[in-house]
This record gives sequence, structure tokens and C-alpha cells, in this order.
Amino acid sequence: MNSGYTKAVLALGSNLGERNDTLSGAVADLVDPPEVRLLAVSPVVQTKAVGGPPNQPDFLNMVLTVETSLTPRELLAHCQAVENKHHRVREVRWGPRTLDVDIITYGDLRSDDPVLTLPHPRAASRAFVLYPWSLIEPAATLGGERISSLAASAADFDDLALFDGFGDFDGVSTAGAVDER
Ligand code: AMP
Repeated sequence: MNSGYTKAVLALGSNLGERNDTLSGAVADLVDPPEVRLLAVSPVVQTKAVGGPPNQPDFLNMVLTVETSLTPRELLAHCQAVENKHHRVREVRWGPRTLDVDIITYGDLRSDDPVLTLPHPRAASRAFVLYPWSLIEPAATLGGERISSLAASAADFDDLALFDGFGDFDGVSTAGAVDER
């Protein structure tokens, strides 16, 4: 890492509209400024909505790691601008939203500020953050614990599935399923 750049972990989620297109566009927008350099992008996972109103569409979630010369507050403002660009709709707390971007970690910074709490206060209990993160950073820890172990013991772990980009029908993959040889 070059000096002046700090590593950050970002978590993205979408459960409204063209969810996969939204995530792809959001990744491109997040790493568009030269102040934010992409390090790694996780696979997309599909998860049941946690909390909030019943019968919400499933979420698609993913994690990216970046290095940035933005301050934590500048990075938060940048993430919120990307959310807004994707016409985020959020009328109900924990309700459906086109795009949610959370900062999970910013270097080793710890902050209790409600405007930007770091590490993200709920990350350690969310398999939909921990699992995709563990796929790109298997050795990462949060609060001294391996994120893969935290993922496996999170309440939502059993609701996760890898998203193949083509959806499924009654649990059977449709067009574009990976060719098994
Ligand atoms: P939500 O979009 O529901 O996740 O919540 C957004 C609010 O959480 C904003 O007002 C942020 O200022 C605040 N917030 C606190 N800590 C964080 C964080 N680590 N990442 C993103 N938003 C945060």
C-alpha cells in the first residue's frame, strides 16, 4: 500500500429493482475517483432480508476492499453519494432499498460516533457481510476473531446462497448455470 492510502472494507446490498445491475454500477462508481483504488471484489451472495417488514425481496450482498486517500468522513459522504445516485429508496427502517453501502472498517480506526461507527457495529453478527468478505480476505479478523468463524456462527448464515447471476426456479438453476463437467 502506498503511503497516504488507508485500506477500507465496504459492504453493499440491494433488494429492489435490478439488484445485480445496481451492485455492478455501484462498484464502478465507488472506485471511480482516483482517491479510491479497488483491491478486491467478492462474489455476490443472496440473503433473506434481516428484520424489517415481512415478504421483502431477497437481498444481494457483496463486499469490496479498497485503499483510499479520503478521510473516513469523506469516504462516508462518497458512499452516500453513490447510494443517492442509484436512487436509493428507503421509506421504512430496514425496509427494501435499491442500494445500501456501509463502511465496515477503515484501517484500524475505532469510532463510537453515531454518524460513522467503526468497525460497523453490526458487521460482526452479519453473515451476509462476513461470508463474502471472508472469500476475499480469508485471514481477516474483527474484534480479534476470524471473520469466517464469526460468519459461521451468525444467525443468518444458513440463509446465504451464492448468486449465479441467472436466478433459479424452485431451487433449480435456470439458463447460464455453471456447466458441470
Ligand atoms: P443505514 O443506511 O440504515 O445503514 O444507516 C445509515 C446511517 O448510519 C447514516 O446516517 C450513517 O451516518 C450511519 N452510519 C454509522 N456508522 C456507519 C458506517 N460504518 N457505515 C455507514 N453508515 C454508518
